[in-house]
Amino acid sequence: MTNEEVRDRIARVREQISNEAAKAGRKEPRLLAATKTVPAEQILFAVTECGIDLIGENRVQELTAKYPVLEGRVRQHFIGRLQRNKVKYIIDKVDMIESLDSMELALEIEKQAKKAGRVMDVLLEVNTGREAQKGGFFPEMLEQALGAIAELPHLKVRGLMAVAPVTDSSVKKSRYFAETYQKFIDISQKKLHNIDMSILSMGMTDSFPEAIACGSTEVRLGSALFGSRAAAPGTEEPQQEANRKQK
Ligand SMILES: *Cc1c(COP(=O)(O)O)cnc(C)c1O
Repeated sequence: MTNEEVRDRIARVREQISNEAAKAGRKEPRLLAATKTVPAEQILFAVTECGIDLIGENRVQELTAKYPVLEGRVRQHFIGRLQRNKVKYIIDKVDMIESLDSMELALEIEKQAKKAGRVMDVLLEVNTGREAQKGGFFPEMLEQALGAIAELPHLKVRGLMAVAPVTDSSVKKSRYFAETYQKFIDISQKKLHNIDMSILSMGMTDSFPEAIACGSTEVRLGSALFGSRAAAPGTEEPQQEANRKQK
């Protein structure tokens, strides 16, 4: 993908996001560029030439490798499965961890954030479909987890994140997103102590129109912006990877 193609795609996707939001009578969600496998120089192009102001990486090693080029240029979120022993490598590099999927991980982020003298913004990953191969809190566990995380002084919850199951069915995607949105609203209305429910991160290339229609406030788009990824080892989708491991 050339830089010029990326520029065109970003423009077209922005238009599509606007249209979908208008059509559904929803506020326009924020665009996060999911940059796995995209070279740092092309990401920098998207940032400096195409107005991308938020990116997400889902592998620690990739994030730290590209960091010298991107440091201070763009907001970075971590969006992938995060192993506890790797939190220390990203704690001073990202603005948010969207994929907080267990209490154990929350405690490790608390420890490392305290050490680094900062507060880390997080989204709780919710596993709305209770899929066994996927991470995240089951919906019925969310409130209890939020109660515990609210007591950690170096974490600040900003909302929820969800990854839809892989399916060709638009109806199934919509149902998944609608259920997740309902959970988001239910929790928002409870006004839990020290919990800010302003972000609902859901929707990827194959599902963002449905996600926007269902109230997403942030879509995470990779291939729509940068083209399809080569299936090199270690570059799979989290869902594909999970499916493969399960086999
Ligand atoms: C790769 C990735 C995305 C973007 O996926 P596309 O299908 O390329 O848009 C979004 N969220 C997460 C967690 C990802 O790993």
